[in-house]
Amino acid sequence: MQHFASDNYAGICPEALAALVAANVGHAPAYGEDEWTRRAADRLRALFETDCDVYFAFNGTAANSLALAALCQSYHSVVCHELAHVDTDECGGPEFFSNGSKLLPAKGENGKLTPEALREVIARRSDIHYPKPRVATLTQATEVGTVYRPAEIAAVAEVAHAHGLRVHMDGARFANAVAALGVAPADLTWRAGVDVLCFGGTKMGLPVGEAVVFFERALAEDFAWRCKQAGQLASKMRFLSAPWLGVLEDGAWLRHAAHANAMARRLADGLAALPAARLLFPVEANGVFVELPPAVVDGLRGRGWRFYTFIGAGGARFMCAWDTQPERVDALLADLQALAA
Ligand SMILES: *Cc1c(COP(=O)(O)O)cnc(C)c1O
Repeated sequence: MQHFASDNYAGICPEALAALVAANVGHAPAYGEDEWTRRAADRLRALFETDCDVYFAFNGTAANSLALAALCQSYHSVVCHELAHVDTDECGGPEFFSNGSKLLPAKGENGKLTPEALREVIARRSDIHYPKPRVATLTQATEVGTVYRPAEIAAVAEVAHAHGLRVHMDGARFANAVAALGVAPADLTWRAGVDVLCFGGTKMGLPVGEAVVFFERALAEDFAWRCKQAGQLASKMRFLSAPWLGVLEDGAWLRHAAHANAMARRLADGLAALPAARLLFPVEANGVFVELPPAVVDGLRGRGWRFYTFIGAGGARFMCAWDTQPERVDALLADLQALAA
């Protein structure tokens, strides 16, 4: 039964699964020396239209933590939005792997870090007693289901770079953002000033795995050792990389992301007709955040629906995935209607 708790409740999309099975032939060199890993990295370079450096990690926490650690010394800090996953949901991983770099949360409308907020945090202190800001991190799509436009990213990156900071992007739902905006992946990343992207595979339909994409190769110096030490170097790497080939080869990744976004839109449109429901954020990607009367929340749970209410800014969160069926969205809406009546 499909639920709306998270897009990672969904299984593996057929393209990724087929590629995974196709890679299960004979013996192949281990630790990323195989042809699937090389081809997947090449496909990502083609997708981003640049000669980026690519690494595959098991999950987003590791990808973010190691990418941030690569950008920071222990006395540095990372400016993030106050709802950022790196701060609220990674169990101190970024601080741990960077040996203590501090996260500095900033406020911002609709889950977005703004150039003004970044400038304010940077200007707050410049003395030796405070950790030196070194990275600005953006989540794309954001934790509240909104997306940064290329110009918004560029504006943050401009402030960051002007002050000697690097720009990291947590792209756990990067595919949903690209599908929502209909722009080239390069326009949301290096062309807008992003230095490192953690490109989420899991939530877009892979069995497991994220790609860490360095647009400036020098920043990836020794990154392979960092991954190995952190237990993120898969020995049978081909099974981590091959699914990427499956989703990248015929644009499946974008089709699936667009579908998930459309299901969220369908849910949001249905909710608009319910006076008891109030949308908390613009629905731009695959998540819907809505304030519901407590009795309705309890009623939904009583009817077996699973969703989160603890995320970020409160309210109930409904996430749609690559495989979310319109009938399930409509069934959820029907139950909402009945409970709100
Ligand atoms: C899911 C998610 C991640 C990755 O989480 P893992 O469980 O470590 O794979 C990172 N950032 C955001 C915004 C996420 O939603």
